[in-house]
Amino acid sequence: MSDIVSVREEKTKHIVKVENDKPKSVVKAALIGNPNCGKTTLFNQLTGSNQYVGNWPGVTVEHKAGRVRNWKTPIDVIDLPGIYSFSPYSPEEVITRNYLEQEKPDIVINIIDATNIERNLYLTTQLLELDYKVIIALNMMDILMKKGKKLDYKKLEKEIGVKIIPISASKALGINELLEEISKENNRLRGKKNFYSDNIEASIKKIEKVLSYKRNNIDNLRFKAIKVFEKDALILSELKLSSGEEVAINEIRNEIKTTKNRDYEIIIADERYKYICKICSECIMWDKEDDKESISDKIDRIFTGKFTAIPMFLVMMFAIFFITFGPIGNFLKQAVENFMANNVLASAEYYLNMFSASDWTKSLVLDAIIGGTGAVLSFLPQVILLFTLLSILEDSGYMARAAFVMDKLLRKIGLSGKAFVPLLMGFGCSVPAVLGTRILENKKDKNLTIFLIPFMSCSAKMPLYFLFASAFFPNNQTIAIFSLYLLGIVGAIFSAFLFKDTLFKGQESPFVMELPTYKLPSRKNLLLHIWDRVRDFLERAGTVILGATIIIWFLQSFNLHLQFTMDKSESILAVFGSIIAPIFTLCGFGNWQSAVSLLTGLIAKESIVSTLCVLYNAQGTAELGNIILNLFSPMSAYAFMVFVLLYTPCVAAVSAIHKELKSWKLTIISIIYQLFIAWFASALVYQFGTLFSKIFI
Ligand code: GDP
Ligand code: MG
Repeated sequence: MSDIVSVREEKTKHIVKVENDKPKSVVKAALIGNPNCGKTTLFNQLTGSNQYVGNWPGVTVEHKAGRVRNWKTPIDVIDLPGIYSFSPYSPEEVITRNYLEQEKPDIVINIIDATNIERNLYLTTQLLELDYKVIIALNMMDILMKKGKKLDYKKLEKEIGVKIIPISASKALGINELLEEISKENNRLRGKKNFYSDNIEASIKKIEKVLSYKRNNIDNLRFKAIKVFEKDALILSELKLSSGEEVAINEIRNEIKTTKNRDYEIIIADERYKYICKICSECIMWDKEDDKESISDKIDRIFTGKFTAIPMFLVMMFAIFFITFGPIGNFLKQAVENFMANNVLASAEYYLNMFSASDWTKSLVLDAIIGGTGAVLSFLPQVILLFTLLSILEDSGYMARAAFVMDKLLRKIGLSGKAFVPLLMGFGCSVPAVLGTRILENKKDKNLTIFLIPFMSCSAKMPLYFLFASAFFPNNQTIAIFSLYLLGIVGAIFSAFLFKDTLFKGQESPFVMELPTYKLPSRKNLLLHIWDRVRDFLERAGTVILGATIIIWFLQSFNLHLQFTMDKSESILAVFGSIIAPIFTLCGFGNWQSAVSLLTGLIAKESIVSTLCVLYNAQGTAELGNIILNLFSPMSAYAFMVFVLLYTPCVAAVSAIHKELKSWKLTIISIIYQLFIAWFASALVYQFGTLFSKIFI
């Protein structure tokens, strides 16, 4: 009996062993570098995937892994968030550091932006100190070549002791050479570790001795000794120094202090930069004076200038709105609407009549499916326009400037400039915007930003704004819509003041964000970005909105006895809607149809339009526009838009909010707050509006 067991054990041991061996043949390569140095571009190039590449720091917030395609040996690459150093302050640094410590990749590919080599090497010195096996991918070589600048990378290689492969991730140059180096095991080197002048080096050695006196086998002893010298809080709490050790280490530090009376972290950083400057001066073979005022700097003098920055920003934003919501956008929308009415609807009607379909089939297909979903689809051109323009601004590098410019303003409401990025994304869709708050370092910044994102009017609300603005304010459409967006921003500012020292107390974090150089947006990236949004829009139209439309159609076509009825006021929906409608009497739209459409808006905001379409039996938005003219006054129409602008976002956004806030309490506060403020603002607009118009008109 026991024999059988042991044989079995032997066998399973063997199997386990084989399985353990297997992953070893796969090389794990982690991509590490500063933000914006081209990690994701290289990752996409290697794995053939389509990760979104953005021209601002902080696009990659979680790590993504993929297998290199078309290569002789299996290599897994991991795209990690960009970092400037290894002092764990930002979530990016924490994610990257944890990944390296826990997953222990076989090799670190340190990507260096060759146009910005000094700053990028700072991280390299830390990687080498941490004792990783490193290969350097010297990226953006195409830019250097184009400018005719030369870099003696062989000399650099000798100096720091690891392999350097010049590449261009976006032009796919040097990729095979890089893979070749990754595959060769004996080319994975650990490189140089001593970057300091003699007296600092001596202090580090002494601290190493103090640390290892009572502890055995500290891994990365040298790195920790340096961090102890710097007084790095995290490492200090990890090591739990005894008071004796602290005294000894303080003495060692004090020896330095007599010569350089400064912060210890700065002393180390300073030493590193001195070293980097020295080796760079030997390797860089162009006149540094040439770099001084580039075209980028000249443009920046306007875009980030003291007096020009804010006006430029407003002009840009207004231009985007004018193109999207003004004549061009309207023309395109008309074209789609005409196509829907003249071709799609007409031929559907023709075929339904040909097969003599029943009344309710006709109603389902024409009113609900084509009418409702079609009404939402006709906004596709404007969605495309808006996102094309925003992506161009983003890819060109302008958005990062805008964040920089906004920092001062955002500080006043308790946020840092970095929060601008997710807030701006909120104008597209709250879901990615909320997820995007992961780039924010501290919890206060993050939670407050999540609370404010719903105030940034998302693109799903556009259809409703168009519909109402073109019906009620035909001559001032752009202004009417722009005013709503502004009102949203005002609401956000108001809420920030309300919450910044109450619900979300805490320290603000400094603004660290590099300004990328201006680039012509790449067509591929642009298309990818736009396609992402369009696909999302179409998917929603085809799934959630279609579903909601059909349900609404059903509820409004059948009465409580489940009989098909043409009289909508008898329908299930009317009964239900009439119960909640009185809530909105003060806001000026206390009819059951508006109440119901607002309810379906919780599923998806576009549904408000499609629901109204179904409820009023309208074919296309033009007809719906005429119908609502008789149901709302301009004042109640604007109050309705205000309510839609401010009330609780759709379920997808709420679930993202809950996921990121990690608290039911805060999520529920956020929902109730939005509902309340929407109702309050809308009632205020309606009541004061009517009062004023009675007095003055
Ligand atoms: P990450 O933040 O490190 O992931 O950087 P990304 O991959 O998002 O790239 C940042 C920007 O640099 C994008 O606009 C890329 O198109 C651009 N880029 C990346 N690699 C190269 C390159 O080799 N040459 C040039 N000219 N641009 C590049
Ligand atoms: Mg990236």
